[in-house]
Amino acid sequence: ALTIGIVGLPNVGKSTLFNALTKNDVLAANYPFATIEPNVGVVSLPDPRLGKLAEVFHSERILPATVSFVDIAGIVRGASEGEGLGNQFLANIREADAIAQVVRGFTDDDVVHVEGGVNPKNDLETINAELQLADLQTLEKAIPRIEKEVKGKKTDPAALEAAVAAKDALERGQLLSHSGIDLAPIKELGLLTAKPYIYVFNVDEAILTDAAAKAALEELVAPAHAVFLDAKIESELIDLDPEDVAELLASTGQEESGLDQLARIGFDTLGLQTYLTAGPKEARAWTIGKGWKAPQAAGVIHTDFEKGFIKAEVISFDDLIATGSIAAARAAGKARLEGKDYVMQDGDVVEFRFGK
Ligand code: GDP
Repeated sequence: ALTIGIVGLPNVGKSTLFNALTKNDVLAANYPFATIEPNVGVVSLPDPRLGKLAEVFHSERILPATVSFVDIAGIVRGASEGEGLGNQFLANIREADAIAQVVRGFTDDDVVHVEGGVNPKNDLETINAELQLADLQTLEKAIPRIEKEVKGKKTDPAALEAAVAAKDALERGQLLSHSGIDLAPIKELGLLTAKPYIYVFNVDEAILTDAAAKAALEELVAPAHAVFLDAKIESELIDLDPEDVAELLASTGQEESGLDQLARIGFDTLGLQTYLTAGPKEARAWTIGKGWKAPQAAGVIHTDFEKGFIKAEVISFDDLIATGSIAAARAAGKARLEGKDYVMQDGDVVEFRFGK
């Protein structure tokens, strides 16, 4: 499964957030045979459609899609030079498919700030500089090798072009994900600033309820997504009943918990979407990539479904709820039979037809 690595300076609230992520045992509850690594937190993707489907189909249980977060050891100034946990850190972050960078915005005189004071802008610059330096080192090592390979006709010249352009962009202070350079030819280098980023601002209630303050922080990281949460509150929400959670969130001006936001934005940032299946046993969301076609999507349920794919019967979620049942949707002409070239849409309710 695709994972999101959690990074940030020491004392910004990473462990607190990660504890909240792991206390929510969606995996243990829904997938009893899954192995859970100690440094992986799994959260379910909030999807109110599943509850409605379960009502229509009288499903016994609901299985949401999940998003996995990996706790990566703290980054410090000098990480790119191999100081402290630097090298291990860089190896771990390279493996993540997207990065959630936690940035401290809360004030608490009892919690030391490693850079001397709470300053989100400065912290972002510190971390970005380390990631950019690490990428520069990777490119400086790789470019002479790629040059040789291109001369020997073993590598496409596009790889060299991309590597040189990436190096220039980094030297100009850019993050590669914002550079517009086509990095596909040098994907194997695992460049850190080329990954999709989400910024998690761990802030006080005062900021959670202050739209202008949030907009100012959001501007620091645009066009990447920003999530605002209070890690301490999130770790307390986990133990509460849904009604109490709603009340507590409302009192801090939030509509959904920070973990839900993080799951939703994380899922989207990873380029994922879901389709839905429903029956008396379960109402379930299945994770696929955006743009996947029907047979590939069927393969997520079972490889036989992909190999023996014949047709997909697709009803949009809205049509299904409006008509009230599959039979009624069929009668109303809302059930479509789609073939192998059908591109799956978010919220499709699907039944696959397959043969041997
Ligand atoms: P890490 O080093 O980034 O993993 O940070 P921790 O999660 O260990 O947090 C460092 C300290 O800050 C701990 O004492 C936490 O209780 C505290 N802390 C974390 N999040 C918040 C927050 O949102 N507000 C306040 N006031 N303290 C927090």
